[in-house]
Amino acid sequence: MSQPKTSPAAAEEVAQLGEPVSRQDATTNEEIATLIEQEFSFKVKRLPENFIIRVGFENSLLFFLWSLLFISNSIRRLGFWDSFTNLSTQYREAFTSTNVGRAARLDSPSLDKYSLWRGWVVPAFLAGSAYIITSLICLSHELYHWKPELLEYYFQLTKKSRIGRFIPQVLLNWFFQHYASKHREHTANRIQRRKHLALEDSKAFLKILQVVGFNLFISVVGVLVLWVCLLQTKVESHDISILPKSYVPPIQGLVWYFINDFFYFYPHWIAHTAPGTKPLYTRIFPQRIARGLHNHFKESHRMHHKTKANLGIAAWYCSPWEQIMFNLFPAFIGPLVTQVLADAAGVEKVWGTHLVTLYVWLTVAALASVLAHTGYRSTWNDPGKHDFHHERAFDPKNATNFGTLGFFDWLHGTASTVPLADTKEWRAQRDRQAALYEASRRTGIPLTKEQTEVIQQPDHSAEWTNKNV
Ligand SMILES: [Zn+2]
Ligand SMILES: [Zn+2]
Repeated sequence: MSQPKTSPAAAEEVAQLGEPVSRQDATTNEEIATLIEQEFSFKVKRLPENFIIRVGFENSLLFFLWSLLFISNSIRRLGFWDSFTNLSTQYREAFTSTNVGRAARLDSPSLDKYSLWRGWVVPAFLAGSAYIITSLICLSHELYHWKPELLEYYFQLTKKSRIGRFIPQVLLNWFFQHYASKHREHTANRIQRRKHLALEDSKAFLKILQVVGFNLFISVVGVLVLWVCLLQTKVESHDISILPKSYVPPIQGLVWYFINDFFYFYPHWIAHTAPGTKPLYTRIFPQRIARGLHNHFKESHRMHHKTKANLGIAAWYCSPWEQIMFNLFPAFIGPLVTQVLADAAGVEKVWGTHLVTLYVWLTVAALASVLAHTGYRSTWNDPGKHDFHHERAFDPKNATNFGTLGFFDWLHGTASTVPLADTKEWRAQRDRQAALYEASRRTGIPLTKEQTEVIQQPDHSAEWTNKNV
């Protein structure tokens, strides 16, 4: 814990500024904060933030959605699903009657447009939007962090614009100041100190947008392929307006999670682990095949690892082949397997892949990709594990964290402990700051600058930087 500076010159300066923070006051706040941290009500208040960071944002979201499902199925119908399907139908009808819809012959009687809409357009739209919206939110802070002049430029531009002249100046000033302070707090939580290449070079940034845009297109086509495969089964035997039974999505979700991690972890591990270090796969496959697999996966995966620092929007910055092999295939195979098995066993009405579960799964998978690449710890997201993976990507001895769930990394001893320790320390610091704020509120003694900066990221940059790579 950093103690306030108390040199005579600094104390005099503070006194001249009229801030009544003396060493004694600062210590009082520290002591009271320690007591507050032990209070039961304080621990309860801190629980949501700590729970989300510990469990993961995606899992917390899934738990929340499952609670809604449970309430809707067991206590009373909430009606959110009915309104979603009604809204979707309205959009489908409006779209089919546009020139684009007619040109694509979506109104053709030979085409089951309802099926195509709900099995392809809706899930592709939901997952694509999740990717785009989350990465834009991350980018808003990234851009202003590396190009601070942009924020000032937009401030002046807004002031001079036609709309800006109608907005009271006080309100505009408040908004930009509020954004700047939020932005400062956010960027203080950057995991790595190094910059992302794309933010220094606009050409590299455009290249990222191009590649990600193309991969989004591939993903949309991929969802169509998945739907065509699912249509070979009795996937449409579900009445879409009836939600799945409450116990089905958690079990299916776990199975899909496991399958996803299996098909993501192994090629990813092989890509990063040279045969020379005698990893497991070289003992399973003949030497030539092992070498061939490593070279193929490594080459496909190289593009994604062009930079070590992460950037949310660059989550799907990878070759089209990698997008199919590492991102789409592992996520699609689970829903396909459960549906095919349920169909074969004749239990598709309960255990088959329900569309609502599929929508949530694909959306969360896209969201998780971006969240793993934001490069920032926030109150609801900790991408430390994947950041560390990027940091040591092709360092043959130290490359770690190849999976998403952590199970296979645990199984093969490829999980790293540094980000976990970081998270723990960071969380403790956030708790400390909350306690200090509360102490200051109770005593009326303002916090020192050092005390307000307590949540600054634990600086492991020396450990995180491997100069040999
Ligand atoms: Zn990555
Ligand atoms: Zn990798």
